[in-house]
Amino acid sequence: MKDTGMIRSLDSLGRIVVPAEIRMTRNIDIGDPIEFFILNDNTIILRKYTSTECTFCRSHDHVTYYKEQFICSSCLKEIADPERMSQVPEARQDFAGEVSEHSSTIRKTKTEDMCQRLERAIEEHPYANQKELAEILGISQARVSQLKRKLSTAGKL
Ligand SMILES: [Zn+2]
Repeated sequence: MKDTGMIRSLDSLGRIVVPAEIRMTRNIDIGDPIEFFILNDNTIILRKYTSTECTFCRSHDHVTYYKEQFICSSCLKEIADPERMSQVPEARQDFAGEVSEHSSTIRKTKTEDMCQRLERAIEEHPYANQKELAEILGISQARVSQLKRKLSTAGKL
């Protein structure tokens, strides 16, 4: 366990501020759920909450943990499928073209679609901040923050 040397006091309501340095380096945003663990009598651990559902399809069945992500057996099979693997670069190229050529269409895309795009962007760029995510998706920072709130209320982040 690494000592950050950072100390914060509880306020009158028992709240504590997670230092900005920690939030930035650990990719924790306002509104993100945080889990509490008790290590021993003197030590409490805070961790950004990650649901145990499959990162890709939200299923809870036959979920395995791999490189800090949860993935279900059927998505794992799909990913491992060599035919699908060869299609991936093409699909990505399409997506990039879409963003630059039809960004106005994307802005009108339904919130749900944009939520999925945001989830995907976060998966692909786990350390991107809101500004970077906004640039990746071609939307405003405020929209990213709004969508993130939506996702965290839905328990998806
Ligand atoms: Zn899955």
